[in-house]
Amino acid sequence: MDVPLIFEKSRPGRRGVRFEPHSDVASFNLEAHIPAELIRRTPLGLPEVAENDVVRHYTALSTLNYGVDTGFYPLGSCTMKYNPKVNDWAAGLPGFADVHPLQPDSTVQGLLTLLKALEDGLKEISGMDAVSLQPAAGAHGELTGILMIKAYLRDRGENRRTILVPDSAHGTNPATASMAGFEVKVVPSNTRGGVDVDALAQMVDENTAGLMLTNPNTLGLFEEDILAIADIVHQAGGLLYYDGANANAIMGRVRPGDMGFDVVHLNLHKTFSTPHGGGGPGSGPVGVTAKLEPYLPYPRLRQGSEGLYWDYHVGRSIGKVRSYYGNVGVLVRAYAYLRSHGQEGLKAVSETAVLNANYLLKQLSERYRTPYDRTVKHEFVLSLTPQKARGARALDVAKRIIDYGFYPPTVYFPLVVDEALMVEPTETESKETLDRFIEAMRAIDDEIDQNPDVVHEAPHHTVVRRFDEAEAARHPVLTWQQLKGES
Ligand SMILES: *Cc1c(COP(=O)(O)O)cnc(C)c1O
Repeated sequence: MDVPLIFEKSRPGRRGVRFEPHSDVASFNLEAHIPAELIRRTPLGLPEVAENDVVRHYTALSTLNYGVDTGFYPLGSCTMKYNPKVNDWAAGLPGFADVHPLQPDSTVQGLLTLLKALEDGLKEISGMDAVSLQPAAGAHGELTGILMIKAYLRDRGENRRTILVPDSAHGTNPATASMAGFEVKVVPSNTRGGVDVDALAQMVDENTAGLMLTNPNTLGLFEEDILAIADIVHQAGGLLYYDGANANAIMGRVRPGDMGFDVVHLNLHKTFSTPHGGGGPGSGPVGVTAKLEPYLPYPRLRQGSEGLYWDYHVGRSIGKVRSYYGNVGVLVRAYAYLRSHGQEGLKAVSETAVLNANYLLKQLSERYRTPYDRTVKHEFVLSLTPQKARGARALDVAKRIIDYGFYPPTVYFPLVVDEALMVEPTETESKETLDRFIEAMRAIDDEIDQNPDVVHEAPHHTVVRRFDEAEAARHPVLTWQQLKGES
């Protein structure tokens, strides 16, 4: 399926729309309305194309996208699951989509009621005492949470300077701690893939502000020693931060609050039904225990005698972290998602996410090395060192899987596993889809010996094949003009 990409479609004089001479556009008197020096004298150089050229161009481009609406997307640590369309419908209702953030509170009581109910739902799920819906992404929630820990410690007159982060942590964790002005110390993992508790006990001291932890961690493993870990950090006077970006392993089953965490963020655009991956709006609400509540961003949503209102007088708040109240469309989707599943439904989501991951792991472990022989939660990591010895790296296998119609799993993360391939099937995939993926992974393993070139040169059916990803990120060429060398 080689799609010929002929970008240059402009032909002089070709038109999609022609303005009639008597229309208000054609007869608009520029000179009467715009200062002479601001009127363009040379043509704009827009492409001259017919309407069908434009429609076909963009429709062709749209078919080059791969997304959860087109197929299986097992990108570990990203929770790329299918998002039910009913939640988009809810977010598009005029009472939510057409209100203005500066409207008086009295005119948006319905929306405020929904936001309050969402706060309550997320409190229940996380086991926290208070929630702010303001942060716009997971990393943003992390920064909000760590700044609250900083403010709390400062108010207690404590100048603690280190945040501990396990070596399996998501990269945003150390980045957040460092942005918030802390020094980051890396806690080693033990042979079972969990935090090395003895090493942790040696590392905590009067400088420890806190520990950031993902549980289950990025290896998909549940931290068995979590209560001991929480004790060690609390005894030393530090606080515990829970990175809840991917909550679909624990939702309705176990709560970060009950594990001993003081601050939590949740990614609504991973677990709670907002499409993501294209850089669209996200949401990373933070939850805290009572002692940190005074530090939450303002405004806080409160119940007054005349209804719900935004309270801007929050004395010890760390301040606003985003304009207005967060990404409200994402919040509406999350609420619709919670209500359409209900308590039992959310539990079933977690169970299915974990079942799917373990089924895939079991089947794939016949061909691929599993660095930790344990039951996993929502995701798992394979180590492709044996495949590398046979001539194909994790990157080659990931590129080849594209030819079989799947989005590749995450590669080379977490860093604690050599030749890592990190798979997260999510709860929304059927057994048939998982079986097709298993078949493809087996076939690729055979190809490594029988037809190595086909693996090394993959993918074969995409418009672009392997490119320099670092160069693409640093010096992106984003326009046709740039590609042609015109400014
Ligand atoms: C995705 C993710 C984050 C960051 O979330 P963003 O919304 O992308 O900022 C943090 N931690 C973990 C474990 C994640 O998977």
